[in-house]
Amino acid sequence: MKIKELPISGHLKDYYQKAGISDLYPPQAECIHKGMFKRKNLLVAIPTASGKTLVAEMAMHHHVGESGKCLYIVPLKALASEKFEEFSRKDVRVGISTGDFDRRDESLGKNDIIVATSEKVDSLIRNSAPWLKDISLLVVDEVHLIDSPDRGATLEMVITKMRYRNPEMQIIALSATIGNPGVLARWMDAELVTSEWRPVDLRPGVFYNGRIKFHESFRTVECVSKFDDLNLCMDTISEGGQCLVFVSSRKNAEAFAKRAASAFQLENSALKELSDRLTKLAETDNDKLLAACVESGAAFHHAGLKREARTVVEEGFRKGHIRCISSTPTLAAGLNMPARRVIIRDYRRFTSGEGMVPIPVREYHQMAGRAGRPHLDPYGEAVLIAKDDQDVEALFEWYIDAPAEDVYSQCGTESTLCTHILSLIASGFVRSREEISTFMDRTFFLYQHKQSRVIPRVIGKVLAFLLETEMIAENGGIVSATQYGSLVSRLFINPNGAQTIVHGISSAEEYSDVALLQLICSTPDMYNLYVSNKDIPYLERFLVDLDEDLWLTVPEDGEEGFFRGLKTTMLLRDWANELSDTVICERYSVGPGDIYSMVESVNWLLHATSRLTPMFAPSFYQQVRELEYCMKYGVKRELLPLVKIRNIGRVRARRLFNSGISSPENLQAAGFDRVSQILGRGVADQLFSAVKRQSDKNSGDVKESGARATARKKQSTLSYFVD
Ligand code: ADP
Repeated sequence: MKIKELPISGHLKDYYQKAGISDLYPPQAECIHKGMFKRKNLLVAIPTASGKTLVAEMAMHHHVGESGKCLYIVPLKALASEKFEEFSRKDVRVGISTGDFDRRDESLGKNDIIVATSEKVDSLIRNSAPWLKDISLLVVDEVHLIDSPDRGATLEMVITKMRYRNPEMQIIALSATIGNPGVLARWMDAELVTSEWRPVDLRPGVFYNGRIKFHESFRTVECVSKFDDLNLCMDTISEGGQCLVFVSSRKNAEAFAKRAASAFQLENSALKELSDRLTKLAETDNDKLLAACVESGAAFHHAGLKREARTVVEEGFRKGHIRCISSTPTLAAGLNMPARRVIIRDYRRFTSGEGMVPIPVREYHQMAGRAGRPHLDPYGEAVLIAKDDQDVEALFEWYIDAPAEDVYSQCGTESTLCTHILSLIASGFVRSREEISTFMDRTFFLYQHKQSRVIPRVIGKVLAFLLETEMIAENGGIVSATQYGSLVSRLFINPNGAQTIVHGISSAEEYSDVALLQLICSTPDMYNLYVSNKDIPYLERFLVDLDEDLWLTVPEDGEEGFFRGLKTTMLLRDWANELSDTVICERYSVGPGDIYSMVESVNWLLHATSRLTPMFAPSFYQQVRELEYCMKYGVKRELLPLVKIRNIGRVRARRLFNSGISSPENLQAAGFDRVSQILGRGVADQLFSAVKRQSDKNSGDVKESGARATARKKQSTLSYFVD
């Protein structure tokens, strides 16, 4: 089927033509035959890189051409940015929403296509963003994540709510290969498109003893070192391809990149430039290791890295300069980065409480699917590494020839339902117990468990909790959210966590930063650090030192959760006490990326707490707000006026403060030369040229005279300093 025959704009056709895309791939053509342009719902469950995004993009442009509006849901923020950039290159207005949870983002509504994570869409629904009712096409990327224990329930609820509210809306769900696509399709009243077709031939195989066994052939691999994984990698590099190596832990990813770098010994200006960019970002030894590896053509990639560093690595790989990336499976779930050969070195992964467990078949397919770059590689190879002869057959059976697992709804637990039922009531979807049941009947959970007797019982318990905590009220058969319940729903926090916070702050006699952090770290929304036996003595000492300041004490059973929360509290306290990233990373065995995600989580919960304090502990309000900013910037309170200045972070602010400059006014009064001495000429230039631009603009403005004009100009020059 030819692109030029499709009902999409000439602009989009030209764009595809220029990109060398003129015919649809077979599964794409099937989407059209099954009614994609006739507003039929579709579930497209086909392999990675077989053109799902492109098909969804055409459907979106078709809607926009008919004055429709589209919402594109993705699982990760990084993916949202990638899709946003991809869609923005064409002639449509595209918006992205991944930010604060309690905003309505009204201006987003002026766009034709809005890209957002599922959590963000749920929060937009809770905050009644008015434009949601205009959505005529909902695209759900990676819909198989409905099965994810952490995030699946939100995705399922978002789909259900959007369909409940906009019954005429078309839905196109994109999925990796799953075992039960028919059930998922029927739940969504969707036509199913499944296919094994791929644009680049994929050869799955198992490596053992110097050769790769494929289904019908073998390939000998030259052994240049004693490491199988490195030999496999060198084999591809020597024929001009690139490699992705999936391993089970961050440490393994780093160790492999180090070995690969010393084996490659590549040298060129593009690698040097990438390495220089990483060196500029580097703070920890690990960051420096990454820069050194990249200089020789290898890299590692995992969630412990800073976002900016990950972007440099991704860019270097896409452009073909970095020849190999070793990664934890984060990369497989995330970005579009194909390579000639994918090496799945570790097919077991450490899982808390279970030890090393084999990864699911679906995850194997997702990694293997990265093999083969369309238009660039003649074929792709996905290679597992066996430990012995028997392992070879077993790996074929367990992974290569195995069907993907079925997906199951994650909406059945009490904690999940508590969050979602409160939000259904607070955002006016349901007004009685009957309506709750009617709504729940439309979920995937009830579609899969039609006769469930558990759900009515759990709903009863959840409603009892929400009534008891006064988040909802029930009068004459009508249920409605109280001011408290409505706020909790809009803040997008777990009602149990909200209740823990409210109980903690309203029963505390005196405010304490560390106590509040510990309280927040005891809620289910906080992502906490793991605790090992060697941490216990430090944690116990911390408890003794801060005994008088803390609000929570060790529970009788010395529960693990308590110590995990305590360890996270220690890290956050160190962060706000201005300890460097390097020290924190070493002390807690984390990467800068982990500090960033913990700070992001605690900030969201601190923000929520600051919104709850006027209702429950008004005298704490100011301190909670300040702590929110201290956490955001990683500074003590005395630096708050300085970090509000553009281009001034925690390190520069501390230097200024220690030199006697403690506010924007002081900084301006100190003058360029003094600030250059403290922060260097480059930074002083940035700061003061912004001020100069502002003063020039002021002097060009209508002439004013007198003290009022002087004060106004001074104020507006100052405001240039401050974000
Ligand atoms: P998926 O979302 O399934 O991973 P994409 O839609 O991102 O796949 O497509 C993968 C690559 O193939 C992209 O570079 C895309 O431009 C290209 N592509 C998609 N459809 C076609 C087509 N019909 N002809 C040629 N290239 C295509």
